[in-house]
Amino acid sequence: MKLSKNALQLLNARYLLKNSEDEVIETPEQLFSRVAKYVASAENEDKEKWEDRFNDLLTHLYFLPNSPTLMNAGLPNGQLSACFVLPVEDSLSSIFTTLKNTAMIHQSGGGTGYNFSQLRPKGDMVSSSGGVSSGPMAFIKIYDTATEHIRQGGKRRGANMGILNVDHPDIEEFILAKTAGDTLHNFNLSVGITDDFMETVQHERDWKLMNPRTKKIAKTIKAKKLWDQIVSQAWATGDPGLIFLDTLNKHNTVAEIGKIQSTNPCGEVPLFEYESCNLGSINLSKMVTLKEPEGTAVDWNKLERAIASAIRFLDNIVSINHYLLPQIAAITKNNRKVGLGVMGWAEMLALLNIPYASEKAILLGERIMQFVQSKSYMASAELAKERGDFPNWKKSTFHPNKHMRNATCNSIAPTGSISVIADTSYSIEPLYALAYKRVGILDNQTQMEVNPIFVGKMQALGLWTDQVKNEVLNTGSIQQLEHIPKKVKKVFETSLEIPWEYHLKHQQAFQKYTDNAVSKTINLIKSTPKETVSDIYMTAWKYGLKGITIYRDGSKADQVLQACHLN
Ligand code: UDP
Repeated sequence: MKLSKNALQLLNARYLLKNSEDEVIETPEQLFSRVAKYVASAENEDKEKWEDRFNDLLTHLYFLPNSPTLMNAGLPNGQLSACFVLPVEDSLSSIFTTLKNTAMIHQSGGGTGYNFSQLRPKGDMVSSSGGVSSGPMAFIKIYDTATEHIRQGGKRRGANMGILNVDHPDIEEFILAKTAGDTLHNFNLSVGITDDFMETVQHERDWKLMNPRTKKIAKTIKAKKLWDQIVSQAWATGDPGLIFLDTLNKHNTVAEIGKIQSTNPCGEVPLFEYESCNLGSINLSKMVTLKEPEGTAVDWNKLERAIASAIRFLDNIVSINHYLLPQIAAITKNNRKVGLGVMGWAEMLALLNIPYASEKAILLGERIMQFVQSKSYMASAELAKERGDFPNWKKSTFHPNKHMRNATCNSIAPTGSISVIADTSYSIEPLYALAYKRVGILDNQTQMEVNPIFVGKMQALGLWTDQVKNEVLNTGSIQQLEHIPKKVKKVFETSLEIPWEYHLKHQQAFQKYTDNAVSKTINLIKSTPKETVSDIYMTAWKYGLKGITIYRDGSKADQVLQACHLN
């Protein structure tokens, strides 16, 4: 197997099995065969054939499942899912039961999302004690502190999504929560937005905040004022993001069993309370082929094969996963949601000489994701024939005409760790830089690295000189080099050099064909004005996105590329 130095370091530090003396006792090849063997154990027939096929998929780095599967598959009580949503009801018992369950999920490598809107506001009456309630923010802080102290299998910290709906009386405190310096490092915060609110903002009307306990109006404020607070705060700190609740529920495939109120930490999977989901991503940088006369092209056949095997792989996990709670087992097995997405999109575009900031890229993005979705649905329908529909199928939008094994098939995850293992670009993000410093996880040594696809292209064009090398090592960019042809510069624009409009168009292109959601960060340069953040948030809603997150360069003390990768 060919793995990059970073991949090896990461695997050594966090994924490969260790003995009680903390010594690594498996090779990366053994890790992949452990995972393939365990996932194939769900098969009734031809276990070896499937084991080989899964092993092939993993060792070629064509597809990788989310981290908990790589870490825990085949171990006793191995918990394999990355994504969970838990309920928070308006009682101390519910709040602390969910905190306990959070601790167990984090310890096993999963991340948790919650909507805190059922909690009565700060200062509201508590009849049992005769006192007053501390409000959602106080409890979010407790969850954050607990998260800080629970490491995921001793490897990394858990991640949380905290949502508060835009009509909750404590919404202003929630919006401002990350101003106070060193707080809530383990939470992504998103305001739960309704279409009604967005229209009220557009018409600059009054907006009512409702006490969820009494169902009475607690306060009336100008919708535009609340919007400006959200925008200013996101501009200053990156939080809060927005979650468009009506859009989530418009696309809820099992709406008959209830409304969806929350997503997992990075936003790519809307889930019911207690529901979990397994993710996996296809490495698009490996799905290109050399073809005459057009040169490099998308290898659709290879992509199709990878999708079919990946859906089967993820469906198997639903069957053989170890569930931490009976409630999680019940709803997860009844819906059998999986989330197959992609990584390495920016590298695929670079290999095809297509600039990220171009209509050609947007069209190809749509084509790729439409293909991933339609082949995923075909694979799920085939599995339904073989294994039966998901148990809630009769309550789903697929009934009665379309048989399906899974209530959802696709999500675009951030792939913060698995893209390092696969040595490709994150998710559908553009390259952040053409060269960057990496601090070794094990040795803490800083090393500079130049993107190998960029180097290859420059060599082929006869442009790989010391001058170019020095420039990218110093600045991460080639935009200031006068002798480089415009066309080449355009292909290698990096995240902050790409206008926000194109960031958002890529999110829209992939969301169009993703039944769950797309996790994406709209990266902005430092001088971006607040009005632009307002435009981005408004456009995201108009585009029908399920959520939106921005990050303005330099706006947080400890800048992180992927919001949830805090460790
Ligand atoms: N996640 C988590 N902790 C982390 C990173 C990720 O709990 O430190 C969860 C979270 O639910 C996130 C999901 O894993 O939305 C997928 O994240 P990503 O694709 O970055 O994970 P990877 O599989 O690459 O580790």
